[in-house]
Amino acid sequence: MSRNPRACRRPNLYLSGVDDMDPIIDLHSDSYFMGQALREARKAYAADEVPVGAVVVHEGRIISRAWNQVETLKDATAHAEMLALTAAQVALGDWRLEKCTLYVTKEPCPMCAGAIVHCRPERVVFGCPDAKAGAAGGWINLLDANPPLNHRCEVTPGVLGEECLYLLQSFFREARENKKRIKE
Ligand SMILES: [Zn+2]
Repeated sequence: MSRNPRACRRPNLYLSGVDDMDPIIDLHSDSYFMGQALREARKAYAADEVPVGAVVVHEGRIISRAWNQVETLKDATAHAEMLALTAAQVALGDWRLEKCTLYVTKEPCPMCAGAIVHCRPERVVFGCPDAKAGAAGGWINLLDANPPLNHRCEVTPGVLGEECLYLLQSFFREARENKKRIKE
């Protein structure tokens, strides 16, 4: 007989092996969209900008993408979130970002958190926290300050947080090394 005795004794071996494999990419998951925000952050890195990226998702579809362009545009307000919010408003033809989720690789700063509350997306998902200057719970929480602000966002922190942080750390390490090299 050619039957495999091991397969016979453990009939579920193959199936449990399949269960252990990485799941097929869920195109509607927070990690998928954060991966898209990370792609934007890498564009910032390539352009010598602090690598932060953002996307806005409306009913499961990306309606805007942006990366930090403070140096490129010589504009201190050109954070990834600000650019993504503006582009999302244009895409929807409305300043109210109802049924939208903003994905950003780093916890928003106070300026961006203020803008987010004004645009009223339902959710904000961010990658790495910013304990020093973050305004989504790190330093302060402007996204959950109702009252006095008239909107509250559901916040999901830490999605692909390590990858987002690694990109920022690499950028600043490289910048420090370049500075040293110039001094020498
Ligand atoms: Zn900001």
